This record gives sequence, C-alpha cells and structure tokens, in this order.
Amino acid sequence: MSDPRRLVPGTDSVLADPRIATAVRRLGRPLVKAAIEEAQRRARAGEIAPEDVVDAAVGHLPERACGLRPVINATGVLVHTNLGRAPLSDAARDAVLAACGCTDVEFDLAEGRRARRGRGALAALAEAVPDAGAVHVVNNNAAALLLCALALAQGREIVISRGELVEIGDGFRIPDLLASSGARLREVGTTNRTHARDYADAIGPDTGFLLKVHASNFHISGFTAAAEVTELAALGPPVVVDIGSGLLSPHPLLPQEPDATSALRAGAALVTASGDKLLGGPQAGLLLGEAGLVERLRRHPAARALRVDKLTLAALEATLRGPEPPVRTALAADESDLRERAARLVERLRAEGVPAEVLRTEAAVGGGGAPGVTLPSAAVGLPAPYGPLLRGGAVPVIGRLEHGRCLLDLRTVEPEQEQSVVEAVLAVRRSHTGDASVPPCT
Ligand SMILES: *Cc1c(COP(=O)(O)O)cnc(C)c1O
Repeated sequence: MSDPRRLVPGTDSVLADPRIATAVRRLGRPLVKAAIEEAQRRARAGEIAPEDVVDAAVGHLPERACGLRPVINATGVLVHTNLGRAPLSDAARDAVLAACGCTDVEFDLAEGRRARRGRGALAALAEAVPDAGAVHVVNNNAAALLLCALALAQGREIVISRGELVEIGDGFRIPDLLASSGARLREVGTTNRTHARDYADAIGPDTGFLLKVHASNFHISGFTAAAEVTELAALGPPVVVDIGSGLLSPHPLLPQEPDATSALRAGAALVTASGDKLLGGPQAGLLLGEAGLVERLRRHPAARALRVDKLTLAALEATLRGPEPPVRTALAADESDLRERAARLVERLRAEGVPAEVLRTEAAVGGGGAPGVTLPSAAVGLPAPYGPLLRGGAVPVIGRLEHGRCLLDLRTVEPEQEQSVVEAVLAVRRSHTGDASVPPCT
C-alpha cells in the first residue's frame, strides 16, 4: 500500500482551488494557509481522505479575519462589560460602516479645507444637553477624568470624598488614575459620611477642582451622608462630576441614577460620562460643561493622545440622533411582553423536545450603572448543562446560571435575535441526543 502522506495535496495545489482563492481574497493568505495546514495534518494522520483536504480546509476557515465573535447577551445584564457593554443600534452600525473608508471627519467639503474634527457628533451631543456650554469627546470616561486632572490639577490638589474612591473594574482605581496625572488627591470625610464643610475645610490655593464620583458599582446604606453638587458649587473651585453611566437627562425608571443635565443645573463646572453604558453608544468619554474649561481640556497636549477615531464619532452621532439604542429599549421593556416572548420561545423549544420553561427573573443594569436596581424580567429556563454548550455554539448564546438552571433572560435578547437563540438551543439538543446530562422533554 502506498504511503497516504504522499497523496496529500500540496499547499500550492490547494491554493489553486477556486473556493480557496476566494477565501484568500476575503481573509488573507496566512489565515487560509493555517486552515490548509490543519487539513493536511489531518490527512497525513489518516483522519480524512487526501481528496477531502480542500473541503476540510474550507471547513477550517475562520468566519472573518478577526477573532472577536459576535455573541447573544442573554444574561439579563443590560450593560455587560465582558460582552463589550452597549450593543450599537442599527443606525450606529450603519454609520460605522459608512465611516470605515475615507470620510469628511476633518474636512469641509464645501470649502475644500480642514474642518473641526467630529463636528457632527459634537453638535449632536451639545444639542442633547443644552445646559452644557461646550462639549468634548475622548476615548472613555477614564480618559475624560485623566484629562480633567492633567489640565486642571497637575501639581495641585483634587478634593474627593473617602466614600468615592472607587475601583471601576479589572483592578483599575479612579484615585490611582487621577494620581497618575501628577495631581495630589486630598481625601475628605469618611467612608460613609462626607459633608460640604469637609470639602470647604480642604480648599486652599492648591485646589485644582472638587470631584464627585458616582458610586456606580456599589451601594452604601445606613448612616450615610454625601454633599450635593449644589452645595459644592457654592464653595468656589470648579466641581467636576463623574456621573458614570452617561444618562444625559433624568430617566424615569432610574430615579437614583445621576444625569448630565441635572448635574450641570446643580452647578457642576464639568460632567464626565461613558458613551457605552446607559447612553447605549460606542466606547467614549463625554465631557460637558463650561466653555472655558472645555477649551482648556481640548487644547491640552494630552487631548491628542486621548482623542477618538472616526468610527466612534460616527457611532456616537448616530446614537444621539438616531432611533433608541438597544440598551434603552431593553431598559424600557414591559415585563408582560417579555413573558409573552419567553412563552412563545418555550413553546417552540418544547415542540422539539427541549425541556424549557418560562421563569420569572430579575434583570440588572450592570456595567457601572444603577447598582442594586433590578428590573422584573422573564427567561427561558433550561437544564444547567445547556449553559456551556450554548457558549460553544456557532453563535454563542450567553445565559446565566441560577438555582441550577441555565436562564436565557429575554430583557437583553433583541427580538431579532430570537430565531438565532432557538437555533442555538436546538443545535445543542440535536448534537447531544442520548446524552443524559442534556435531557429531552419528558
Ligand atoms: C464606568 C465608570 C468609569 C469608567 O468609565 P470608562 O468609560 O469605562 O472609562 C468611571 N467612573 C464611573 C463612575 C463609572 O461608572
């Protein structure tokens, strides 16, 4: 018998196949070659027949030249940092696509000369918050805070309450971020109680600004007190308010969540916020406030290092001007509608032998917004082993494990994603027929 390794087609001959040639144009040569090499390896190992190498290589091709995989967020956590926070609206996705090539991001088409970068997004933000004298956009809220510290307090002091020295996630801490600018933190008050007079006592010739940071990922209750922005604004130095979640005006369902308009009306000189939390847009840091201060931030040398790209500007403008983004739709979703959607999905799944049930659940804002607030919701409940299997599917569906069940919470699943969820669950059921850990309906 001849050695099967001799019969395995060489890379050049596989590359000549029209399907492979198309893939090279779409994915580039290195990724396609890796898929071919994997198919050749399997043929040499005798796992596949030599004549199946092209088919196998096609099967090993990645879907795109980027390893990031779209997933369906069925966790019930509206702003999930591990899943990339806010999903963009269709309008914002379309804007990103349009901005991918060359655009007039910094060019005046009528005059044929340089124009203000991102003027469309900045105008949309200014219109959304008329109380702001001026606005600026940077890479994220952390960048917005850093720029405030660099431009207004380098070598000077930032007065901040001990109750607001927040760790935002992945080990990053706002006090360390601020100190890295060369500003000194002047901590005042205590963990649970800080009063306006504590700030007043700390103010001196070295004060750069007073900073209020929203407790966006924790909640202190009991014997507590915090100074209001109005009280701090009366003390003299500029008050910078980090509202965190990016609500531009008050939201009726989240009365405790701070918003930019209210903070400015209360006397904040500057407000900083994220673009990809409750605003529902791309990662960005929003800066809103007094025109003179915003101009100092904009002109600081570090502003260039913190600036956003054209894709962010495009998505932000479309989020502000376009239809309601998914995070806001999810926030406003009606519980009875969610139950109906869950019931319809459960019916479809049970008809295919999946032991699904409708469960009452509590969704959360998450991602640094409205800590402790729960939103009544409905989920499709599945046996726990479905959890990891759904994560491993062609379109990963990320649920949450609760009371020994895998829950797919519909508050964070867009109606357009329901078909994909059904297909993913059925694919798990099909590929595990006879597997006792993934039981059929009884
Ligand atoms: C989320 C958050 C941040 C960090 O914002 P990024 O946009 O992730 O940089 C800072 N401050 C508060 C209060 C937050 O909630």
